[in-house]
Amino acid sequence: MRQISAKIIDGKQVSADVRADVGKRVAEFTAATGRKPVLATVIVGDDPASEVYVANKHRACGEAGMESVHHGLAGDTTEAELLELVAALGADDEVDGILVQLPVPDHIDSDRVVAAIDPAKDVDGLSPVSAGLLAGGTPGMVPCTPAGVIELLDRNGTELTGAEAVIVGRSKLVGRPLVSLLLGRNATVTICHSRTRDLEAVCRRADVLIAAVGVAELVGAGHVKPGAVVVDVGINRTEAGLVGDVDFAAVEPIASAITPVPGGVGPMTIAMLMENTLKAAQGRN
Ligand code: NAP
Repeated sequence: MRQISAKIIDGKQVSADVRADVGKRVAEFTAATGRKPVLATVIVGDDPASEVYVANKHRACGEAGMESVHHGLAGDTTEAELLELVAALGADDEVDGILVQLPVPDHIDSDRVVAAIDPAKDVDGLSPVSAGLLAGGTPGMVPCTPAGVIELLDRNGTELTGAEAVIVGRSKLVGRPLVSLLLGRNATVTICHSRTRDLEAVCRRADVLIAAVGVAELVGAGHVKPGAVVVDVGINRTEAGLVGDVDFAAVEPIASAITPVPGGVGPMTIAMLMENTLKAAQGRN
């Protein structure tokens, strides 16, 4: 097999570049309008991981020159109360973006809550309106993680027009939006899932292979065509530490470029949230 030492796509650096760029455009927005974009976040309950994620989002907002407000609700908040807050934030002229941190407690239907977010302020891009616009080829708010994948590919200089792109994983959060984003960029797109026959053979067709599965190191050397660009969305906590859905050591010598875990797609999600919050503010202006 031809051995190529892959270029490591540095998500931390790209994320920093995107956020710095957003910061510049936020400054222009603020100079032109006399106000800063505002992100409102909501957490129901006291999940420590959610607290960390949201704290990071607030820090990123501050660094980009945006404001953020937080609503921490008790774990026994009812669905009706949460829907009331989401509606109030939608009606609040001072709020540009609304982010309800998932998961919410089991007694709340997260789909119903996400669907209640004003599409113009849906900075997570997960509402049915945002999903429908994206699937129809006229994107509104694009979900942050798949948007981050495209940004990484673009900044790597990966040609998408005419490329065979294979995605492993068909979640609403990652796999499905990626289909529309890659089609929009004129790639030939295949999406795989747990029922796909001969996953290895399908993946080996890919010029661009994206793994968003949640199974540690599922994608190995046998899945990768020499010279392919491999993007690993997976975040799996194992005894050996944090690993992706791609067996990095096995794939790196075959791929032409690859994202590491951590430090690949992960840092991009927050950068694209900043991008979406600015976009929401510009759209509402
Ligand atoms: P998900 O909702 O659990 O979806 C997983 C997908 O993988 C499903 O479509 C499933 O198929 C498919 N799958 C499972 N086992 C498979 C197998 N053996 N072969 C082929 N396909 C298989 O996961 P997700 O939310 O998309 O997340 C995927 C991974 O990305 C997770 O590790 C998650 O932590 C990570 N993630 C990272 C970020 C980030 O910021 N970097 C953001 C979001 C998610 P079926 O549909 O047939 O069940």
